[in-house]
Amino acid sequence: MARIQMKTPLVEMDGDEMTRVLWAEIKEKLIEPFVELKTEYYDLGLKHRDETNDQVTIDSANAALKYGVAVKCATITPNAQRVEEYKLKEMWKSPNGTIRAMMDGTVFRTPILVNGVHPTVRTWKKPITIARHAYGDVYRNSEIRVPGAGKAELVFTGEDGQEIRQTVFNFKGPGIVQGMHNLDGSITSFAHSCFKYALSVKQDLWFSTKDTISKTYDHRFKDIFAEIYEKDYKEAFEKVGITYFYTLIDDAVARVIRSEGGFIWACKNYDGDVMSDMIATAFGSLAMMTSVLVTPNGQFEYEAAHGTVTRHYYRYLQGEETSTNPVATIFAWSGALRKRGELDGITELQQFADRLEQATLDVINDGIMTKDLALLYEGEARAVTSRVFLEEIQKKLINA
Ligand code: NAP
Ligand code: MG
Repeated sequence: MARIQMKTPLVEMDGDEMTRVLWAEIKEKLIEPFVELKTEYYDLGLKHRDETNDQVTIDSANAALKYGVAVKCATITPNAQRVEEYKLKEMWKSPNGTIRAMMDGTVFRTPILVNGVHPTVRTWKKPITIARHAYGDVYRNSEIRVPGAGKAELVFTGEDGQEIRQTVFNFKGPGIVQGMHNLDGSITSFAHSCFKYALSVKQDLWFSTKDTISKTYDHRFKDIFAEIYEKDYKEAFEKVGITYFYTLIDDAVARVIRSEGGFIWACKNYDGDVMSDMIATAFGSLAMMTSVLVTPNGQFEYEAAHGTVTRHYYRYLQGEETSTNPVATIFAWSGALRKRGELDGITELQQFADRLEQATLDVINDGIMTKDLALLYEGEARAVTSRVFLEEIQKKLINA
């Protein structure tokens, strides 16, 4: 069988623990036999990040910006215990945080649906993608615990000496007060990423804030989205037959629950944090959630939404064959290969990505799956190890 040829390399960001083990097996069993894989490889495993003083993370993000498509394995974000375990020189920052900051992107999270695992919400038939703005608001706030009576004010002092002052509240007794901010530039990037992503997957885009109450702050989000839509995307949306729809967050929540799914829901930072956990849980499992970082210029970094599955890895190190779910990592690869195929005009590569995803879903439809899914599955399920699961997918690909 002739292998599919690639033009531009994928930026491959290897990672840690159980997902690193699965990463190698996915490549070996499901990709390399079918595709003459061309990647520019960056080892973001914690040991190598430490050896390079985390330079490898920065290099990998630059490569992603250069080539436009990356695929990333889950990585350890070090804490005090990891510093000890890996004898690290420093408590290096989260690679995802570094990459997100350098690529200035928005993260889109989408559940993978399978027959037999039913969403908690009966009406949901298609996945709902959450696009979370990952800058500012309550995540970069200043807070004061007010000790007693007094006046709290909001003061802006311009570099030119201009002063804007507003009373927040005249306290008669103790309480709390908080200040937060966002940036036109960051909201603009968020908007571009959302519109570009909606076009790339041809799905409607919803956006919600609380602009009736927050008449300046949230209203700015609404206005920036509206201006950018009118100016840069309206025509393209109409051509593809998708819509941009703005509504209040509480109205959005009600509509989401009544919907069939199949759209993108853009959320401010806090709303996105809360709603993405709600959506993931209601659709089934974090092991069935994909995640892609999209920059305002249309560069893509694909990954799984879960972590390195440490508990399974420690069992693996003791010689146990684990039943760790590789689906989200497989879909990170298929997403990246499909996008590479699109950008380079390689139809076979796009079709291979479709076949890989279909083969994975077909195996599950046959009732063969990892333990985590078997627990959720309504029907006869055979729980297998990751290795057997990957071999079953390989058989489907060969016989397809
Ligand atoms: P985790 O790796 O997502 O795993 C938490 C638990 O969820 C697992 O113990 C397992 O439950 C279940 N699980 C998650 N993914 C699974 C899969 N593919 N198949 C089967 N079960 C799965 O989260 P964590 O244990 O909190 O974090 C571990 C490490 O990952 C940390 O060092 C953290 O820094 C890192 N992390 C990285 C990323 C990223 O790179 N994007 C994201 C999150 C966390 P059972 O043990 O009950 O089977
Ligand atoms: Mg959260």
